[in-house]
Amino acid sequence: MDRSPHETEQIRARLVQHKAELQKRVSTIHEHARNPLEQDSAEQAAQLGNVAVVSALESEAVQELADIEAALHRLEAGTYGECVSCGEPIGEGRLRVRPAATQCRDCAELDARRGSV
Ligand SMILES: [Zn+2]
Repeated sequence: MDRSPHETEQIRARLVQHKAELQKRVSTIHEHARNPLEQDSAEQAAQLGNVAVVSALESEAVQELADIEAALHRLEAGTYGECVSCGEPIGEGRLRVRPAATQCRDCAELDARRGSV
């Protein structure tokens, strides 16, 4: 893809900022997860429910972090913005919303329909 060094820098800055936000989110999740469980069994059940929610949130954030790392690598390699499935450029609009997107909208929707994201 043809991109000016300035544009590449902007994308990198956006990804790095997004990464910092996610890292902050993950450490906040960890703080919550470290809280000891209450003795009361009803409270405990509620807390265990929270743990499930928390770990879901965490794996989501961790996955997104991995996507951002991969996007930064693709930026270095000059393949950022290309769909990993079909090789077509991912729309700039989509990249603005999801800077770590690895697939164009068509391929992402196709995969979502197949049930493998
Ligand atoms: Zn595609």
